[in-house]
Amino acid sequence: MNDLAKKDLKYIWHPCSQMKDYEELNPIVIDHGEGVYLYDTDGKRYVDVISSWWCNLLGHCNPHISSEIKKQADKLEHVIFANFTHHQAIKLCERLSKILPEGLCKFNFTDNGSSAIEAAMKVSFQYHEQTGNPQKIKFMALTEAYHGETIGALSVGDCDLYTKLYKPILMDVIKIEGPDCYRCPYGKNRENCNCECAEKAVKAFKEHGNETAALLVEPLLQGSAGMKIYPPLYLKKLRELCDEYNVHLIADEIATGYGRTGKMFAFEHAGVSPDIMCLSKGLTGGYMPMAIFATTQKIYDAFYDDYGTGKAFMHSHTYSGNPLACSCANAVLDLMEDGKILKRAQENAIYFNNLINKKFASHPNVGEIRHIGLINAIELVKDKNTKEPFDSKLRTGYQIYKKALQEGVILRPLGDVIYFNPPLIIEREDMDFVTDIAFECLKEVLS
Ligand code: PLP
Repeated sequence: MNDLAKKDLKYIWHPCSQMKDYEELNPIVIDHGEGVYLYDTDGKRYVDVISSWWCNLLGHCNPHISSEIKKQADKLEHVIFANFTHHQAIKLCERLSKILPEGLCKFNFTDNGSSAIEAAMKVSFQYHEQTGNPQKIKFMALTEAYHGETIGALSVGDCDLYTKLYKPILMDVIKIEGPDCYRCPYGKNRENCNCECAEKAVKAFKEHGNETAALLVEPLLQGSAGMKIYPPLYLKKLRELCDEYNVHLIADEIATGYGRTGKMFAFEHAGVSPDIMCLSKGLTGGYMPMAIFATTQKIYDAFYDDYGTGKAFMHSHTYSGNPLACSCANAVLDLMEDGKILKRAQENAIYFNNLINKKFASHPNVGEIRHIGLINAIELVKDKNTKEPFDSKLRTGYQIYKKALQEGVILRPLGDVIYFNPPLIIEREDMDFVTDIAFECLKEVLS
């Protein structure tokens, strides 16, 4: 272990980690990044095929984004965002209002995804309180959802790994059994179903619609659940239910926004708009921690009144609207606005999926290969016919992760789901490389 790694272990408590694991797999000290590559202090190269927790969108140290943030750093690094504003935030919101699903035109800034979720929940609750529905104090979310780690965000989440232990201190949230297309209880498949599973949502709305402020949803892709993918029709059905029961539909596009699903925003696949949309990760290209919730004029108007009425949204974060982060977000839009990067990513998505199917599909432990945009996920199972998972104690995904790291590929599976979620600018030769490495590692671990 090198000196920096030793010092790291002396001082640092890493996120989402059992620190004891680091005894065997020492922290990898990254020195610099370029495009889809990260280089450690020994010069070893890693392909960042998970976009550093799904946030790096256009490559590490992207020349345009780096140049814009440097310029901004010499001009204005931060300013209080109450009563003050700046060019970068105004420009960003004007641009977002033109590309977001119809109706989303007012923007509130936070500094991470979980905080955006919390702010969206508070705004929804307060809206109903101020529009004659004070009984709407509950939230609905889907089973296996992930919306972040703060207490409110964790409450609307449902991944046991993160949530279970904390249940005694979480809010009481109405969980709707969400779509499970690989193990569909209706015996259907993604391509030809009528989203029969939405009947669970219908039932929940009948029982709780009147007391519910908002339903939160990760559109089309439940990322942390293991990149579970479901059809757009399901979102349309949720939209109808929300309209019927005056419940806000909150789209968590923190992971799906910015082209990850093949369109700029996942909701575009469904052709409907949410009432509130949360964005982060790709928003700044993975450069700076920033999040936004976007909402409608209707919601905004319910807060607009004389100060004495107490209707203002009294929510703030010190770094709201940080100019450096906004400059990155504008630089991302500079690069994406003409649609060329997205178009190329869509073409490459077909190539990547064909490649992965060819390589993995016939392996006896590959239960399902699912894909949307450039995201491809491979669910490993003990038994392909019964879809029985591996014993989680074996940590099969983790063994594959360790092997792939040795070979210079960062996979970091979700349980036993190996997935690829690369920056949109990945080249085909890197797709070839990571597919080969992942398959060799999988074969080795499962032999
Ligand atoms: N929502 C989704 C769908 C996410 O994937 C994440 C993070 O992975 C979050 C919310 C939380 O964002 P953050 O980690 O910035 O708090």
